[in-house]
Amino acid sequence: MPELLPMLPRDTRGRPLRDLRISVTDRCNFRCVYCMPRAVFGPDHAFLPRAELLTFGEIARMVAIFTRLGVEKVRLTGGEPLVRREIPTLVSLLAGIRGVQDLTLTTNGVLLPEHASALREAGLHRVTVSLDADDDATFRRMNDAGVPVSRVLAGIEAAEAAGLGPIKLNMVVKRGWNEHAVLPMARRFRGTGRILRFIEYMDVGHSNGWRLDEVTSADEILATISAEFPLEPMAPTNPGEVAERYRYADGAGEIGIIASVSRPFCGDCNRARLSADGQLYTCLFATSGHDLRTLLRGGASDGDLEATLRGIWEARDDRYSEIRSAETATLPKVEMSYIGG
Ligand code: SF4
Repeated sequence: MPELLPMLPRDTRGRPLRDLRISVTDRCNFRCVYCMPRAVFGPDHAFLPRAELLTFGEIARMVAIFTRLGVEKVRLTGGEPLVRREIPTLVSLLAGIRGVQDLTLTTNGVLLPEHASALREAGLHRVTVSLDADDDATFRRMNDAGVPVSRVLAGIEAAEAAGLGPIKLNMVVKRGWNEHAVLPMARRFRGTGRILRFIEYMDVGHSNGWRLDEVTSADEILATISAEFPLEPMAPTNPGEVAERYRYADGAGEIGIIASVSRPFCGDCNRARLSADGQLYTCLFATSGHDLRTLLRGGASDGDLEATLRGIWEARDDRYSEIRSAETATLPKVEMSYIGG
């Protein structure tokens, strides 16, 4: 008699657990104004000490357990994941786990020339690169680390040469900072096979001083682009996909819109996030997490951990973007640089 596998967990809104985002470090070599403003993350900022970070072995053990609960897609994030040493070693551990069907990494791209081949050889499938403008003045203002566009373009080329494409690009659009770069970015990347996604500026964490009037909405972004390049909506690739997809009517490829503010997508959100120090969050805008590291280091069995995760997910009712308000925007939400986007 074949062993009956327990039903995969669903949360209180019937959403499965499919996508695990793992922050491997809270450190970054950029200071993007919408994520890690330098005024808050300055030279005296206390980052997580190494001893508090999950080891690669602990991360791999957790991922194996998550796959038994339905996780198929694993995304490595940060901070900037490539500032943590030996990431290809972690990738090779995760690539060997049955159930991990899609293994990706989000990066600001500047360390890709050094690491792209090793990441690919270790089993990474693809990368998503953040780029908030294609002119140096605007980009430097957004990353607040003096980094020129050319460094990121070199990273994109290295990733493509290593076989980590097709490359997805993320551009966060903040009014008064880079909305003027939306059309130039579309012009630069259409017809290249790279998929540019525009992200509405979000009230993540509690440090970026978010204001609703600094959000350039999906409608505005689409209107700006389609005035020059007509667009057609496309069907989502997977359930729970965050980006709305559009193709250029003239066949020059596709773009994406990630509109957490004006077009919430909590309805089929199947994402969990694990911080670098082993806290589990069931929403990007959560104010508290679940401590898995103490269990991991306290002798919990895989069965115990699996039962704990199942309980957390089945009790989940997150839908922050649907209830966002001026009041919720001020909640002490977890920092994006700590749990990854
Ligand atoms: S706000 Fe939370 S529940 Fe909604 S889509 Fe984002 S992570 Fe998911």
